[in-house]
Amino acid sequence: MNQTDVVVVGAGPVGLTLAMRLGLQGVRVLLLEANQTIEKDLRASTFHPPTLDLFDEQGITPQLIKAGLIAPTWQVRNHPSHDCAEFDLSILKSHTAHPYRLQCEQWRLSEFLKTYIENHLPSVNIRMGVSVEGFTQTTEGVSVQTRAHHGPDEVWSCQYLVGCDGAKSVVRKTLDLEFEGQTFPETTILVATDFPFQGHLPHLSFINYCWSPEGTFSLLRLKNLWRVSLYPSLNESIDEAVQEDSVRAKLRLIVPECQQAHIIQVRPYRIHQRVVKQYVLGRVILAGDAAHINSPSGGMGMNGGVHDAFNLADKLTRVLGGQSQALLNLYERQRRPIAIKHVIEQSAKNRARMQEKDRDKRLQTLQNLQAVSQDPERALQYLLETSMISGLRESITQV
Ligand SMILES: Cc1cc2nc3c(=O)[nH]c(=O)nc-3n(C[C@H](O)[C@H](O)[C@H](O)COP(=O)(O)OP(=O)(O)OC[C@H]3O[C@@H](n4cnc5c(N)ncnc54)[C@H](O)[C@@H]3O)c2cc1C
Repeated sequence: MNQTDVVVVGAGPVGLTLAMRLGLQGVRVLLLEANQTIEKDLRASTFHPPTLDLFDEQGITPQLIKAGLIAPTWQVRNHPSHDCAEFDLSILKSHTAHPYRLQCEQWRLSEFLKTYIENHLPSVNIRMGVSVEGFTQTTEGVSVQTRAHHGPDEVWSCQYLVGCDGAKSVVRKTLDLEFEGQTFPETTILVATDFPFQGHLPHLSFINYCWSPEGTFSLLRLKNLWRVSLYPSLNESIDEAVQEDSVRAKLRLIVPECQQAHIIQVRPYRIHQRVVKQYVLGRVILAGDAAHINSPSGGMGMNGGVHDAFNLADKLTRVLGGQSQALLNLYERQRRPIAIKHVIEQSAKNRARMQEKDRDKRLQTLQNLQAVSQDPERALQYLLETSMISGLRESITQV
């Protein structure tokens, strides 16, 4: 039978980060990815300061910065009046080497990590086009069944199996663990366009969460495009809402000239918030979206998953080096409460704020946010939380 120390399932940002961190310690890792290439679908675009700090060591952060856009500020705006609360992240400069958000596609991170592993870490074996079909575990180890697009089915034996296989995780389902939480009623229609919103809306940041008389939208800038989050109109089905005419009609309400925009991609998605009951069961561990999912509002899901991977790599390396397996429970104690208290709670607050329809409540919220943004001490506390610095710090104090 084929043998390795750790099998990691899924070459998303979390699985690749974990594989890199383990590989840096010489751990033998088999990383299995069902897709034959890294998917370039539109998902995360925001990197928070502590994530950039963590990736600096291997030179991944400079590559991300080169490929992305530094966003020194972000805004909550009222459309079309353009009143806004703007948060300036430079206030974080004594807390991070990267006092800004970085706007860059998630798949670029995956590509950079994969290339780094292939060029520098001989103990990590990445197999694309190979999916994990199931596994069994004993107190001695785990036996993993795989299926390849090209090539024979295989069985691998390993000391630990880590499911970084995303929201629909086969690893989590095989463990039969409850994925507690809820699915929100709305569907978001994500539109990518190269229309230059910055030339039409005054004082726009690279990250803008906007209320409008018709509802809410967000405008997030990447190097060569804008990502616009839209919502179906009342009584409009999802099928109708993704049609070009409907998308153009909604874009026109943001900027009239935008009706003629070049639409690059339209993608509907639902929003869930769930956390698995247990992160560790025997020799099988969960990380990233396999363990927790949340509203993308505020850009925390991938960042939180990457923080899981850094934490888990440290514990796993020590356990493989002879320390007690109980250290893996410390990973769960350090990361699960943070997913609930910081990532899910904060992203749910962000979502609820933007879903508010009442004009007076919106105005009140905007005034509160403006007051916070203009008070250095309150702004600092707010940005430490929303930039995921507080959560990461709190996680390592858990014993
Ligand atoms: C529209 C949108 C915007 C978002 N914006 C942000 C943002 O700005 N910032 C942020 O932090 N987060 C954001 N997120 C969340 C972010 O995309 C996810 O949290 C992130 O992708 C989780 O990474 P992961 O590696 O855990 O899982 P995934 O990225 O889902 O990767 C899992 C991998 O596992 C593979 N896989 C699955 N099953 C198997 C199997 N059986 N065998 C082998 N391989 C398997 C899959 O093919 C996939 O490649 C956003 C999400 C969406 C939908």
